[in-house]
Amino acid sequence: MADPDDERPTVPAVEPAAAFAGVPDGFERLWTPHRMAYIGGEGKPRDPESGAGCPFCHIPSLPDEEGLIVARGRVAYVVMNLYPYNSGHVLVCPYRHVADYTELTDDEVAEVAELTRTAMRVTREVSAPHGFNLGMNQGEVAGAGIAAHLHQHVVPRWGGDSNFLPIVGRSRALPELLGDTRSRLAAAWPARPQAGSKG
Ligand SMILES: [Zn+2]
Repeated sequence: MADPDDERPTVPAVEPAAAFAGVPDGFERLWTPHRMAYIGGEGKPRDPESGAGCPFCHIPSLPDEEGLIVARGRVAYVVMNLYPYNSGHVLVCPYRHVADYTELTDDEVAEVAELTRTAMRVTREVSAPHGFNLGMNQGEVAGAGIAAHLHQHVVPRWGGDSNFLPIVGRSRALPELLGDTRSRLAAAWPARPQAGSKG
């Protein structure tokens, strides 16, 4: 299965700017999704009924930096999307392996909503987007990459951020490394109002 020429890193990496043709602009780097296989199948739960092999079940067991976790709530958490539509694209996931929004408990619905709201506030503070796309893709037919584990997208938008690159180059120009973005969002995240276990 492993390609001997395949030396892709296991975490998102960035090519040096000099490796790309073009005139430098406001973007310092061109981030390319090295692991498109994730979308094509790799990393998807083998058994959609269980959390075995599910990245959203596994991520909370990692340290925040390694898992790209921005914040942990009681029943849900916030993580950087490995395949962002835009810089600062985060996902809000329940810890529990559930696929459908109607399966969430009242507690989970409330905390997913609360974390989504806080993610918007923090993102506004850190990177001043002009707007957001929020939403959940329910089922593979609706575009969910990991359909078995519900996740709410929070995508910051800036005027003019949609250009020809995603279509022509199958790449997205992203000005920051995911780890850097995670650190900035995590640093700006408010302390939780109530004491409780951390994850
Ligand atoms: Zn899961």
